Amino acid sequence: MEPININPFYYSISQVFIMKKITILLLSFLFTIISFTAEAQIRVVTTLPDLASITRHVGGDRVDVFAIAKGYQNPHFVDPKPSYIVKLSRADMFITVGLDLEIGWAPQLVQSSRNNKIQRGNAGYVDASEGISLLQVPSSTSREEGDIHIYGNPHYWLDPVRGKQVAETIYHHLSDISPENEALFRKNLESFKQEIDERLNDWQQKMEPFKGTKIIAYHNEWVYFEERFGLEIVGFLEPKPGIPPTPSQLVSVIQKVKNDNIPVLINSPYFSSKSPEVVARNTGVEIVKLATMTGGYDEIENYFDLFEYNINALTESLKNRQAN
Ligand SMILES: [Zn+2]
Repeated sequence: MEPININPFYYSISQVFIMKKITILLLSFLFTIISFTAEAQIRVVTTLPDLASITRHVGGDRVDVFAIAKGYQNPHFVDPKPSYIVKLSRADMFITVGLDLEIGWAPQLVQSSRNNKIQRGNAGYVDASEGISLLQVPSSTSREEGDIHIYGNPHYWLDPVRGKQVAETIYHHLSDISPENEALFRKNLESFKQEIDERLNDWQQKMEPFKGTKIIAYHNEWVYFEERFGLEIVGFLEPKPGIPPTPSQLVSVIQKVKNDNIPVLINSPYFSSKSPEVVARNTGVEIVKLATMTGGYDEIENYFDLFEYNINALTESLKNRQAN
């Protein structure tokens, strides 16, 4: 017979034994849950933050996503870092814009990762340009004169409708890798597409008064945006995509801005303001900095914010120009 103890914190040896057993059972149960969730997450590395944002929408909590490029970097030129290779070596899926946008940095990183799953041609390699209707596809491909858009204009994610196509592609590839989650991915895809449609309506209404406005841009990266929102981009500070502005190019742009009374020049976060300022000083054109990617500015946290930001910035400055 064990002695009776009135101390509420006193437990008999057999009670302690049972409690230990319960604790061990609970811990192992928790451990199983944690390792199961960790295993269930698909590790995705994308080149651009917009692909990452769309993947998060479609994949929900089943994906763990990392984007290599930052939203304020020029997507054509990103400095490769060893940490990116480590991320890629552990990835189940790699998603690229394709069309040689990232030719200068992504293929080497993927190759160095030695991760067979994500090599081109394998299930974990996703080219998001699949099924995208491309603009400015040249009749022949040549890198002569430094052109870096030789397979057509690669900046297609700047059109939210093409963004829906990207989401569709990502949905198919995620479902191939993880068929048990197909229904969830499909539900997420539908809600992504629906949100784009709802917001697009609002964005287009805001842009409606400025339909057909002529605009100058630094780099030829707005063609899809231009088409969707009814602008007319008539010139670039770069004489060819990837070639920095030259004095003769600036002279011709200045002439064009004066002749056509062009109100706005679009610059991106990663280009110098020097050449745009030269044009502005000589013409009075207003410089508007727009983001080309999620994360381009702090408040742009996802793919939807990208358009919210750009449409607001653009309509704001076009309104100002009209008022003056
Ligand atoms: Zn480009």
